[in-house]
Amino acid sequence: VLINVKNPKHFLWNQEHITGIHAEFTDKCNSGCPMCPRYINNGAELNPNLPKTEVSLEQFMSWFDEKFVSKLKRLYACGNYGDPIAARDTLEIYQYLRKCNPNMALAMHTNGSARSTDWWYELGKTMNKSVYGDYCTFSIDGLEDTNHLYRRNTNFKKIMENVSAFIDGGGIAHWDFIVFDYNEHQVEEAKKIAQKMKFENFNVKRTTRWESFENGLGYYNVKNKDGKIDYVLKQPKNSNLRDETYKVLRENLLKPNYITEQEFDQLYHGDQMFNYKTPDGEKVSFKHNSIEIACRAVKGTANSLNEIFLSADGHVFPCCFLGGEPWRYDAYSKSTNDSIMKMIELNGGMPSISLKQNNINDILNSAIYSEMLARSFGLDHPMRSRQCSTCCGKSWNKLDHGEIGNKNTSYIDKSKNSESLRK
Ligand code: SF4
Ligand code: SF4
Repeated sequence: VLINVKNPKHFLWNQEHITGIHAEFTDKCNSGCPMCPRYINNGAELNPNLPKTEVSLEQFMSWFDEKFVSKLKRLYACGNYGDPIAARDTLEIYQYLRKCNPNMALAMHTNGSARSTDWWYELGKTMNKSVYGDYCTFSIDGLEDTNHLYRRNTNFKKIMENVSAFIDGGGIAHWDFIVFDYNEHQVEEAKKIAQKMKFENFNVKRTTRWESFENGLGYYNVKNKDGKIDYVLKQPKNSNLRDETYKVLRENLLKPNYITEQEFDQLYHGDQMFNYKTPDGEKVSFKHNSIEIACRAVKGTANSLNEIFLSADGHVFPCCFLGGEPWRYDAYSKSTNDSIMKMIELNGGMPSISLKQNNINDILNSAIYSEMLARSFGLDHPMRSRQCSTCCGKSWNKLDHGEIGNKNTSYIDKSKNSESLRK
């Protein structure tokens, strides 16, 4: 027997109850952020691998019954390929969750530029319990003259009206601001606006998804629908607003690098080695599975909850990092080659992790979660997913040094600051 699921030795969640869900309610979106994996060819085209689907209230209620929901501590909706406000039943799903469980945290990440102010007011009434950790993070990368340069097709005025309605309803609002060269001078002003509007948190994020580097600064060509370069995104000039990924990497040589399809050009994968060039032209080569893992899906150093990720098509993954892989578009092979796909195949294929075909407990007890994944975390394990090594490396990972920002210490009322569990 290859995998013993009856007496698992490597159960991912230690057979404890799942207390958190990260949900992708849809893979649809009203915005067109050029670095988002929803788009390919530098933002020019929609990723052809996406099913363009969403989770309905009816499906959600049948997959997660009242008993399951009553034990949850948090659900947050974000996802890889879509914005929760583009799904029809998002508000109703939150209302269902609140009805089943008055004490859990309800959270969401959004561009904020769709839906009526009435809808936002109602959401604010549902997402208003700071004591349990409710929040809605609005991703607003600049002010009226700049936000749409990254959040293409969004409308700053509309976003601000929606935020106001949400806050008026009692909702707890957070602001995430991705910094580029064209909005770096607006960080302080945006923070003042956040304070005035009674956002609770203002967090600066430094994207690491650069396409190329010139003189140590990241560049990304934004393409329009015709595939022509429209304009160029550039890293901020202020070095304090740039991500520290490569600095930390240099200090931890032989540690892995997180690979997105856009970054794939800089890398190649063979015999578990990653080889790539830093912005300074330095060549680095390392074995990605030689780093220890602190899995963000499991209660422990990286999370206070045992958490699952629900894809827009109803599949259960441990996290969004693996939960995006089946639909990821690679310019060369058109799909991913991450080892998670092999694990899914060994588990019985995509239907074996789908809530449309199984109930949640059967999925959680299947081989992928009762043996394979946690086993693959072992040092030098040949089935180790590169996503695991590079998103959840203990001593180095790409997320902690740029993509996430410093949310834990970005509360406007500093008494609310909390230190990162990982640190
Ligand atoms: S708002 Fe989110 S889902 Fe939509 S395009 Fe931007 S990053 Fe992607
Ligand atoms: S990428 Fe791997 S290690 Fe990280 S949270 Fe997901 S399953 Fe865990």
